[in-house]
Amino acid sequence: MIRDPELLDQLIDTISRFVRERLIPNEARLAEEDAVPAELLEEMKEMGLFGLSIPEEYGGLGLTMEEEALVAMEIGKTSPAFRSVFGTNNGIGAQGILIDGTPEQKAKYVPRLATGELLSSFCLTEPDAGSDAASLRTTAVRDGDHYVLNGTKRFITNGPEADVFTVMARTDPSNKGAGGITAFIVEGDTPGLKRGPADNKMGQKGAHTCDIIFEDCRVPAENIIGGVEGKGFKTAMKVLDRGRLHISAVCVGVAERLVEESLNYAIERKQFGVPLAEHQLVQAMLADSKTEAYAGRAMVLDAARRKDAGENVSTLASCCKLFCAEMVGRVADRAVQVHGGAGYMAEYAVERFYRDVRLFRIYEGTTQIQQVVIARNMVREVS
Ligand SMILES: Cc1cc2nc3c(=O)[nH]c(=O)nc-3n(C[C@H](O)[C@H](O)[C@H](O)COP(=O)(O)OP(=O)(O)OC[C@H]3O[C@@H](n4cnc5c(N)ncnc54)[C@H](O)[C@@H]3O)c2cc1C
Repeated sequence: MIRDPELLDQLIDTISRFVRERLIPNEARLAEEDAVPAELLEEMKEMGLFGLSIPEEYGGLGLTMEEEALVAMEIGKTSPAFRSVFGTNNGIGAQGILIDGTPEQKAKYVPRLATGELLSSFCLTEPDAGSDAASLRTTAVRDGDHYVLNGTKRFITNGPEADVFTVMARTDPSNKGAGGITAFIVEGDTPGLKRGPADNKMGQKGAHTCDIIFEDCRVPAENIIGGVEGKGFKTAMKVLDRGRLHISAVCVGVAERLVEESLNYAIERKQFGVPLAEHQLVQAMLADSKTEAYAGRAMVLDAARRKDAGENVSTLASCCKLFCAEMVGRVADRAVQVHGGAGYMAEYAVERFYRDVRLFRIYEGTTQIQQVVIARNMVREVS
């Protein structure tokens, strides 16, 4: 749902200019320094990017899902690591508190998350619990008015820098499934919370992940999200529904950027006396990528509109994540192919994007897990 088309156009124009004039020229620097330059972080905060999907009453922009998808597609046109920092704040970092938090929890954390004063992370994955997240082993044992957390969380985005963590831990050891899991808000400076060294990743340099280790970490009982034990896995799944649509929109944006890079190169470079773009086999690659990016855009916007209309889009969000993450992988592969040897060289953006987009098929639920979710929901609906 688009509330005010004129206002949204202005926002998208501003973001588009920021992407073109500030982020794209700094892509190589982001990768070399493995960090988002401090001045760009400040500009992102001033533009309100840290609070895109946080309601206006908490100081965010309060975008609807459709509006957020359109914005994420625009932001997708540059290195995904730029988005990762604030996207995690708006998304998996803050949404748990927003969706299921108590009014006090929302008032305490969300306004500062919306401005970027606080950076947040989402801690679900563990060394032995990835796709099978409900089998997680981190424990939270009640001790007076606190819970004592022990366990390790793996590959946590924003982990090295985050001020606030949403942590899924098992409060009921007799329940080994989803019902024994509770979500906690854990502040980054809580004694007993330790951060492992930053992971050395294949791509998306500038976005950081690390282990988050809890060793007798005492967390106030009032920090249970929503105040009730046993609801944490449901909270995590609700967070991921929105996150999957957001990531799908980013995949569409990246695919559109790669189509543009491929087309420009194919028009400029000549072989056999004519531009590459005049060879029909190159045209086929350009056309396939354009078509797939368009299909991704259409499906994400449809699912987003349905979510705004109050429909349960769990299946459709997985369909979008499945298609768009795989689609952008194919588009990136063709982009390298259209560039020939140059596409294998680090000075061309497509080489970096090729590595960056690989992640989309893995995190926030792998492609296979999306397939499992879609088919399981299909079967459930008929029985
Ligand atoms: C850069 C990065 C950032 C991340 N950020 C976060 C974060 O901020 N917070 C967080 O909690 N997690 C995060 N993750 C973790 C991510 O969500 C997991 O890596 C992902 O869910 C897969 O889990 P796994 O790595 O344990 O793989 P596994 O679950 O071990 O899967 C390995 C393979 O087996 C397949 N497989 C597993 N089960 C099935 C099945 N039932 N049917 C068919 N195939 C199956 C998978 O699809 C995959 O191909 C991040 C990961 C990365 C790499």
